[in-house]
Amino acid sequence: MSTYNEHAECGSLPRYLKQLGDELERFLRFDHGDAMDEPELWQNALRGPLPEQGTGIGPVMDTISRYLIPNGSKIPHPGFSSFITTGPTTLGALTSFAASIAAPQRLGLTAFQFLEEQSLQWLGELLSLPPHMKGIYSSGGSVANLLALGAARQWAFEQIGIDPALDGVSKPARIYATASSHHTIHRSAAVLGLGRNAVVAVKEDRDGRMCADDLQRQLVKDASRHHLPIAIVATAGTTGAGAIDPLRQLGDIARAHKIWFHVDGAYGLPGILDPQVTALYDGLELADSVVIDPHKWLGAPIGIGTTFVRDRDILHRAFTQGAADYLEGTISDEQAQSSLDGLGIPYADFGVELSSPPRGAVVWALIKEIGKAGMRERVCRHNAMARRIAERARAHPKLELVREPTLSICCFRYVSANIEDLNAFNRRIHRQLLRNGENMPSTTLIDGALVIRPCFIGARTLEHHAEALVDEVLAIGERLNKH
Ligand SMILES: *Cc1c(COP(=O)(O)O)cnc(C)c1O
Repeated sequence: MSTYNEHAECGSLPRYLKQLGDELERFLRFDHGDAMDEPELWQNALRGPLPEQGTGIGPVMDTISRYLIPNGSKIPHPGFSSFITTGPTTLGALTSFAASIAAPQRLGLTAFQFLEEQSLQWLGELLSLPPHMKGIYSSGGSVANLLALGAARQWAFEQIGIDPALDGVSKPARIYATASSHHTIHRSAAVLGLGRNAVVAVKEDRDGRMCADDLQRQLVKDASRHHLPIAIVATAGTTGAGAIDPLRQLGDIARAHKIWFHVDGAYGLPGILDPQVTALYDGLELADSVVIDPHKWLGAPIGIGTTFVRDRDILHRAFTQGAADYLEGTISDEQAQSSLDGLGIPYADFGVELSSPPRGAVVWALIKEIGKAGMRERVCRHNAMARRIAERARAHPKLELVREPTLSICCFRYVSANIEDLNAFNRRIHRQLLRNGENMPSTTLIDGALVIRPCFIGARTLEHHAEALVDEVLAIGERLNKH
């Protein structure tokens, strides 16, 4: 007989939630060391053969508390500023958990589905998107870009009388982006059957922004070769350095050539709330599609990206899966008397997921919790932190500011006349930072120079974390340079 009993599980939720809550609260204090301090300990505890008999919930929860959680990730640490990712806020995690039990699917006439659309409207308004733009949630920026470019592909081929969703693509196509654009653009091109080589690398200026002149030149060249232009992709906040492409200029070119204009703001779109950089988003209203990742600056748990398009019908034509018999026969939403009487807005036909959690409730909760003012405060704080590091780097003889910050990313490095290989030296500083585990930026290459690259987006990341990072870089640099 198995010790696992389907019935015994009932009624245990409050107790285990309490256990989990205590454990996670302890985790967030980060006094448990790093997973790689003694990996054998948890590996030995977790390794094992497939269990023939289940243990029941209790022992698994104990193992989760003891071995899993304390050996989790540094990503939610307030001093973590690597890549562009962060841990969720408490409310984001709680709402996501509530949804997983109370509304496992976004379909159905539930309060959760109601918030799907309302949160999309809030999000669009928060980020100054034109009111006619409609959204769709997906798992993150990768899929969000895929959906946007899928819409672009649909629209572009329809203009020459081809339905690519039905018949596939039969003509060489082009997507225009810079080398600093996110590689999910290239992957989307591959998945959409256009091929990675369809993505043209338009030149950047010294600040990493797309050169409109070079774009014009490429367009003329490709037109003469009869390549079908699918989209011009502007990035509002590049992953490497946070640059914002000149949206108005690029949008005007897109309009003039009747090409789909996509803005990838997965990371950087919330930057529009900072009055010091709002002007850089001028022209955003020209976009045919826009991507923003609530699981970045907004503090949602990982798994929430958003695509906005000027017309959701295009998404429908591009991605509809066609009706399945078992989904047929639902009555219209107006006559519904049960939450199961209708599916609600057919989001599943606007993207590539059928089963999907109702992510909108999370976004609604987060916006409701902090409001527009709270979000603006967070964005302004993080952008100011990048500027503060720039200021210190400019003022200090042993630091060099390599790229002027636009948003919450600052690229700087340690320098000294006696150091021959600055890249190797800064890499050593970075390794030491990660080992110390208090201030954890990433590195990137800017024109061949390896730089220290903090990107501040975490809700728990405060001004003093920027100061602490610079202090630590200086301290490590000094020590390493003596040896
Ligand atoms: C993060 C990011 C992506 C990818 O998003 P995921 O959520 O990681 O899939 C795409 N574009 C930009 C500009 C990003 O910053």
